[in-house]
Parts: sequence; structure tokens; C-alpha cells
Amino acid sequence: MIQRIKTKQIRVGGVLIGGDAPISVQSMTYSKTRDVAATVEQIKRLHFAGCDIVRVAVPEMEDALALRAIKEQISLPLVADIHFNYRLALEAAKVVDCIRINPGNIGEKSRVKDIVKACQERHIPIRIGVNAGSLEKIFDTRYGQSAEGMVASAEYNIKFLEDLGFSDIKISLKASDVERTVAAYRLLRPKNSYPFHLGVTEAGTKFHATIKSAIGLGTLLLEGIGDTMRVSITGELEEEITVARAILKDSGASSEGLNIISCPTCGRIEADLVSAVSDIEARTKHITAPLNVSVMGCVVNAIGEAAHADVAIAYGKGSGLVMVKGDVVAKLSEHELVERFISEVERMAKES
Ligand code: SF4
Repeated sequence: MIQRIKTKQIRVGGVLIGGDAPISVQSMTYSKTRDVAATVEQIKRLHFAGCDIVRVAVPEMEDALALRAIKEQISLPLVADIHFNYRLALEAAKVVDCIRINPGNIGEKSRVKDIVKACQERHIPIRIGVNAGSLEKIFDTRYGQSAEGMVASAEYNIKFLEDLGFSDIKISLKASDVERTVAAYRLLRPKNSYPFHLGVTEAGTKFHATIKSAIGLGTLLLEGIGDTMRVSITGELEEEITVARAILKDSGASSEGLNIISCPTCGRIEADLVSAVSDIEARTKHITAPLNVSVMGCVVNAIGEAAHADVAIAYGKGSGLVMVKGDVVAKLSEHELVERFISEVERMAKES
């Protein structure tokens, strides 16, 4: 497992962020928040997909006023995303578990003070959400939309809140490209111990967002940076969660779920390995036990991989072996292998 840099722990609803808490996965709905039924439906979908914390946009008072009805129908911690209008933050703070603002775009200090007071009264944190594309003018002019500009903005906003006696803070530093995002988080990490919310913003469609997030978030996670994260995808809600969980798993930040080792296939293959692995992946999505499994196309590497796997398939010509902890437990025809493999995986998941 990776060695995480120790951060201050905060709480968003029932989810701890920072310290030794597991890295949580966040997402955002795309319905109009004032449409309570649609927003609740999307939040429930995200919850089912494995999301830990959900954020909703609050651009108008109608959206802020809908938060109570939404909150009553969900069990995920709820974050309100607010820009410019402090009155929306004051209304949202009565109900939600965290407020995301940029103190710099709220305006007069007295308004931020009111938001801080409202959050203090309910013991809810504030996320300082810095985006390269919307830096305060002073930092944009001095640094451009650079990592240095993002860090300067974050430090300014942190001090803003600290001067008001508020330290229940988490921070995000998002740019739409990997290089600036990684540079900004790296620059800010040694300067304070607040938990970081990781993300590459406006990352694009599933294909590009997955690659950008895997490189960016994966790099930071491997360096021990990051306490909670969102993968932004122009696509369906559940995709963000699937990709985020896979990044956590494959970077070693989480051991939850199946680690599937499968060969790329080559001219030696005598079976439909692609269908078999797709089938296995779809049918084992729900399993959270940390199991290593391997599905290999022929005996060349199958036995070696199976020796380190909890459950394995080694395909041959028209038949193959199912192995558990390196021991052969069944020799079956090709079409029987996946069923037996899955039943062994489910048994081990129950026992673990
Ligand atoms: S395990 Fe066999 S089929 Fe798969 S890539 Fe290696 S040699 Fe080819």
C-alpha cells in the first residue's frame, strides 16, 4: 500500500476525510437541484455505484431552498457548490454537510464572515475549491492560470478563513490539464496539513477523462497526496465512480475489490478470452473483498500467475483449469470455466 502524507482530519456528514480515513470518492449530480425528484434519483444512483459524498450545484435561491427536501431523502453526505452569492451559502449551510466556495469570489469579507459563522454553528467544513480558469484577478494578472497562481489563490483563501478563526477546511486545486494540476497539489502540500480533494477538472469524455485522471490523480496518490477525489467525466454518473475506484485500486491506494490479471492474448490462444474476462468483470463488480484473480489464455504464463492468485483460470484447447491458491480444483470444458471461477471467487469473498 502507498504511504499517505498525514493530514488533518475533517468530517463531511458521516464520512471522515484526511488523517487515516480511507480516500473517499465524490461526484456531482447534473439535474437542476430545484428538481428534487430528479436530484434524489441521481444521488441514489451514485450511492448505489459506490459514491461516498455527493455535491450539488446551487446557482439560485430556488436550488438552495430545495436542499432540505433532498437531504431528507438521501443518506449520502451532501455538499453545496456555491459561487458569488453568499445568501445561497447561508441558506445551504442550514442543511448540508459541507459548503464548497471560493471565498475570493464571494465579495466583501463580512459576507465570508457570515458564511463561516453559519458553518461554525453547524460544525460543517468548507471546501476551498480553486479552479485555474476562475482565479481572482490579482492572481490571474500576476501568475496567469498557472500552478503558482492556483497555489497563491488557495493560500490567500486559507488565510482568509484562518483569520476568521476557521480551520475546518479541505482544498482542491483543479486545472483542465494534468501537468498544472499535479504541479499545484505538489506545491501546496508542504505548506499546510489540510486534507486535499483531488481532481482534474473538465477532463472530457470517459476515454480522455480516464487517462487524464489516471495519470494526474494516480501520480499524486503514489506520492501519498490526496484524501478524497472526484473523476470528472462528460458522461454518465456511474462512470465517474467506476473510474475513481479503479484508480484507487490500481494505484495501491485501496485494496478493495478484485485485482484482475488477464493476458493480452496472442497467436497461442485457443479460447474466447476477451468475452470471458468481460463477463467476469461485469459479474464481480459488486465484490469488495481484496482478491487477486488471474485469467490467462494458455499455460505459458497461466501457472506462474495462478501461483500468486486467489482464484485463476488457465485456458487450454477447448478446456482449462480452475485454480485456487495455486492448486487445481477443477478441469472443465471451456464453457464451464467462468461459472466455476465466479463461484470460487464468491465463496472466497464471503470467507474473507
Ligand atoms: S498467456 Fe498464452 S495466450 Fe496469453 S498472451 Fe501469454 S502466451 Fe499468449
